[in-house]
Amino acid sequence: MKLHILGCYAATPRTLTNPTSQVLEIKNHMFLIDCGEGTQVQLRKQKIKFSRINHIFISHLHGDHFFGLPGLISTFRLLGRDKEMHIYGPTGIKEAITMLLKLGDSWTNYHLIFHELTSKEPVLVYEDAKVSVTTIPLDHRVYTNGFLFREKLGERQLNIEATTEYGIDTLYFRNIKMGKDVTLDDGTTVKNELLSFDPTAPKSYAYCSDTAYLPSIINQIFGVDWLYHESTFLDSEAHLSTKTKHSTAKEAAAIAKAAKVGTLLLGHYSTRYKSIALFKEEATSIFENVELADDGKVFEW
Ligand SMILES: [Zn+2]
Ligand SMILES: [Zn+2]
Repeated sequence: MKLHILGCYAATPRTLTNPTSQVLEIKNHMFLIDCGEGTQVQLRKQKIKFSRINHIFISHLHGDHFFGLPGLISTFRLLGRDKEMHIYGPTGIKEAITMLLKLGDSWTNYHLIFHELTSKEPVLVYEDAKVSVTTIPLDHRVYTNGFLFREKLGERQLNIEATTEYGIDTLYFRNIKMGKDVTLDDGTTVKNELLSFDPTAPKSYAYCSDTAYLPSIINQIFGVDWLYHESTFLDSEAHLSTKTKHSTAKEAAAIAKAAKVGTLLLGHYSTRYKSIALFKEEATSIFENVELADDGKVFEW
């Protein structure tokens, strides 16, 4: 998996900081997660092809998470897109976007398919042979979901040395990868585990923004490889954090620790702070493995 941070600051766009947007590369998909203002420019800067984006996941309808969407939808039209585009987000997103398209008489020439969400329980919103995406219901001032991206267990890996040793024809390779035993010409059966290795462990990523401290998500995200958890405030502004239903760096770290995640990625910093280094300092006092998201950074695992 490869995660491109396009923007990871709260509230308003500024000279050097952008509101929330990310692209997750997973099994040949380019999933766009949230779409704050400036997303298009950030996509260009990171040389991500617009045409590779077919699914957009919007956490909630605060402007810093979706005000870039109407512009992006319009650009897709100008670029002559004809593939369908799927948008997953809270109820109301379809009305908001179609109203703008209607007023400008600028309907798309490609299918725009909205998947509106209302459930307060996790919902499987996307699935194919290789990946699944499930909502993570969060606690914010408006209806909000995070998203849990999981790879599925892949096929077994051929043990080429062993298949050569047993003189196994390449015709059987497909079956071996699917876990089947092989019967040789003389009638003996060779067990699959002698001919193949276990598949690589499927990877996972949980995106949680925006949210108040919410321990009920721990079960759902338990053991994920990477967790992006918002940390709008430092401890000194904990009162503001509670009031606005955001989290502090320490609260994000407490979630990461309890969920035994691999790496905690912090973001959605309030622009009141001069430097983001303190976020890492406060979080690592609770959970060791912390990374700071920043616009333009790429993480791979
Ligand atoms: Zn936000
Ligand atoms: Zn918000």
